Amino acid sequence: MTLLNIAEICPATRTLGPGQRFVIWVQGCCFNCGGCISPEWIPQQVANLVEPTILAQTILSVSGTDGVTISGGEPMLQAAALGELLTKLRQQTSLSIICFTGFSLAQLVAKSDSNINLLLSLIDVLIDGQYIAELNDNKGWRGSANQVVHFLTDRHLPEADLFRDRPRNVEIHLRHDAALMVGIPPHNFSQDFRQAVDLAAAKPENLTRDFV
Ligand code: SF4
Repeated sequence: MTLLNIAEICPATRTLGPGQRFVIWVQGCCFNCGGCISPEWIPQQVANLVEPTILAQTILSVSGTDGVTISGGEPMLQAAALGELLTKLRQQTSLSIICFTGFSLAQLVAKSDSNINLLLSLIDVLIDGQYIAELNDNKGWRGSANQVVHFLTDRHLPEADLFRDRPRNVEIHLRHDAALMVGIPPHNFSQDFRQAVDLAAAKPENLTRDFV
């Protein structure tokens, strides 16, 4: 058994793929893309260690889940543990699996790594390539236009356009003394969010607002 090193989880969101999804962000990345949305998850250091079977049980305990989205950090650095997790899920559910990676699919295949090959065999949609800020076209379930959406199964082919062209939105999940942004932010999100917070401070009835 290999432990997963997890930066964060979100048990239920609708901002990172079709339907209600359980999101896992792994800790540690071998890239350093300019404008990375989660730079605190790049260092390859221990964050939260969890057994894949325990995380699988947690995922299965959330009602209404349609799928799992894996991001990071770089998931392929933890291919063995993620393979264990997804194998467990595949044995017990028909959840859809979406995974982001900074590697290209061709690079991953060229590695001829058995753990990566197993992981790829368990994924429905792989969104590949590093984030390039200059190519951020403000749409879709991917950060920049160079990233390719690979439908490794035909499960999400009917929604293919959403992956590339969908208007972006995010959810803000409050955690005790912190807030977690879930989703790929639209352009100007930080500026709009700050304005909304200022408005809410002045007029609490303005607290509810869509950022799309
Ligand atoms: S691959 Fe993803 S997590 Fe890694 S540096 Fe690039 S954008 Fe950030």
